[in-house]
Amino acid sequence: MMPGFEEKRLSMVANQLIRRQIKSEAVLDAMRNVPRHLFLPEKTIDYAYDDSPMPIGWGQTISQPYIVAYMTELLEPVVGLKILEIGAGSGYQAAVLAHLGCDVYSIECVEKLAADASRVLTDLGYSNVKVRHGNGYMGWPEEAPFDAVIVTAAPEVIPEKLIEQLAEGGIMIAPVGGVHSVQSLMRITKKDGTITRENLLPVRFVPMVN
Ligand code: SAH
Repeated sequence: MMPGFEEKRLSMVANQLIRRQIKSEAVLDAMRNVPRHLFLPEKTIDYAYDDSPMPIGWGQTISQPYIVAYMTELLEPVVGLKILEIGAGSGYQAAVLAHLGCDVYSIECVEKLAADASRVLTDLGYSNVKVRHGNGYMGWPEEAPFDAVIVTAAPEVIPEKLIEQLAEGGIMIAPVGGVHSVQSLMRITKKDGTITRENLLPVRFVPMVN
């Protein structure tokens, strides 16, 4: 018999995440539970647990499971952490954070993706996520400051407004770089008013559009 979705999800966690040193039990548990296939277009759900990004329409992609796990772990998620996400896309990353008990505010510039993500998240009962259609470069000033910011599309430079909306002691994870250059996944922290930037990993994300 073909393995079912739950079986595929458990083997995704074992083979793609644990083998690559994702350590947080909370993150692993969230990814064992969030039904990733429900965030993909119907015709591609059989590939939902593959070790790769997948198209979600409008030239956009849902990130590879490993990248979702890696970025989630770096955010040091705990219950009640207030997180701003730029690029809701399918809503999957937001669901993983919501599963961890974080309060998620996610912005998406493609109106249809924002509407679809919002509906799936509501249907799955994640009441601690708000998705809005808008331009991520502006952030979400009415809800700032945020304990963490996760950017899932690549800007050429880190948007100043997002740094402003990061709380003291906060962590931002963002892929940075142009479409034709290598992007770098960066961690930006704000401590005692000082901004620190670290390069973590070469990555490839869709560009953050302006
Ligand atoms: N986190 C998503 C991955 C999304 S891919 C997931 O889990 O599925 C990146 C998303 O960023 C795309 O949906 C794209 O439309 C969106 N995006 C790109 N530029 C943006 C901007 N300036 N503001 C808001 N969203 C943006």
